[in-house]
Amino acid sequence: MKKQIAILGSTGSIGTQALQVIEEHADLYEAYALTANNRVDELIAQARKFMPEIVVIGNESKYLQLKEALADLPIKVYTGEEALCQIVAEQPVDMVLTAMVGYAGLRPTMNAIRARKTIALANKETLVVAGELINELARVNGTPILPVDSEHSAVFQCLTGEVGNAIEKVILTASGGPFRTFTREQLATVTKEQALRHPNWNMGAKITIDSASMMNKGFEVMEAKWLFGVRPDQIEVVVHPQSVIHSMVQFEDGAVKAQLGMPDMRLPIQYAFSYPDRLHASFPRIDFRTCTNLTFEQPDTSRFRNLALAYEALHRGGNMPCIVNAANEVCVAAFLHDRLSFLGMSDIIERTMQRASFIRKPSYEDYVATDAEARRIAEESIANN
Ligand code: NAD
Ligand code: MG
Repeated sequence: MKKQIAILGSTGSIGTQALQVIEEHADLYEAYALTANNRVDELIAQARKFMPEIVVIGNESKYLQLKEALADLPIKVYTGEEALCQIVAEQPVDMVLTAMVGYAGLRPTMNAIRARKTIALANKETLVVAGELINELARVNGTPILPVDSEHSAVFQCLTGEVGNAIEKVILTASGGPFRTFTREQLATVTKEQALRHPNWNMGAKITIDSASMMNKGFEVMEAKWLFGVRPDQIEVVVHPQSVIHSMVQFEDGAVKAQLGMPDMRLPIQYAFSYPDRLHASFPRIDFRTCTNLTFEQPDTSRFRNLALAYEALHRGGNMPCIVNAANEVCVAAFLHDRLSFLGMSDIIERTMQRASFIRKPSYEDYVATDAEARRIAEESIANN
């Protein structure tokens, strides 16, 4: 029996690499459902190649084009957010890879957890927005959540065989992004073109901007808290520009375990698919004749304020991370449309954190309301900037 995988966001960076893994292990995995938001031509090509049972296009105006292009094939074609939320619960689905970007991942992920489909979690925003709620839902339903984010996959791999051994610290590595050595003066004038040129990873636009601003690392600190049950003060960030050590765990006896590999997301994707097994992979290996210099630096939160804001949100808890996520999504979109400067993003996020209504124990409905309120405040702040 092949594992049936639903990929939410199959046309993106993670989605297309997941399809490469499925192709390399076609004897083990099958794409049961493929979904995209806008890129209908890519989705059509993927559907013709992988022959899933179901395809969903988020953008309803592209539905007819998709339907007609696949009319000769026995593939069910749906559109809209509701369809996305439903297909994850289809009976034959074994695993849902959440590879869409942003807050939009929350509802389908909740549905998949309720339907007891193992989650391969790439969409970190889901845990940033509602980590407590997601963990509780996963616990009640007994649904495993397996990390795809490279740092968290590294931690997860380090924890294998360590059941019952207390974690002293989780050490997340960060590349530092394209602006690692920039001064504040230089950061004030960087362009989106510069920010979109990540030195080590080829990713979607939103996470690439988050990496340049280090909000991505802040989100990963939150993600680590919920995935591994550690306190914020047990999560450390260290800048490691080579991106060869993907993260580390320090145990009570002082031993540190690390997972190393080339910066290639297909490995963590494949590990989530095959866990607890490891499969042969054709990806490039580390060559220690050329990889001779692994270096470490402390992150600078005065230049990269988003990292400090993320820690603050984590300490304050409640709906504060949800507020930060919503403000950040608005800011990144504005930066990509030249409506906001790079450093302006931290100002708007901070202002939104001050103005949005704080809720200590949010329900799902509170998160929905918080997301809407924080987006409105961030938009207004940008307009009045
Ligand atoms: P991407 O922009 O390349 O792709 C996003 C995918 O999601 C596309 O298929 C798009 O059609 C779909 N999508 C976008 N908005 C949607 C919506 N509102 N509803 C439904 N589908 C939607 O992004 P990516 O780089 O592949 O990142 C995806 C997720 O994985 C993000 O949460 C990101 O933080 C996380 N992640 C990515 C990487 C990476 O290397 N790219 C690494 C770690 C984590
Ligand atoms: Mg990561």
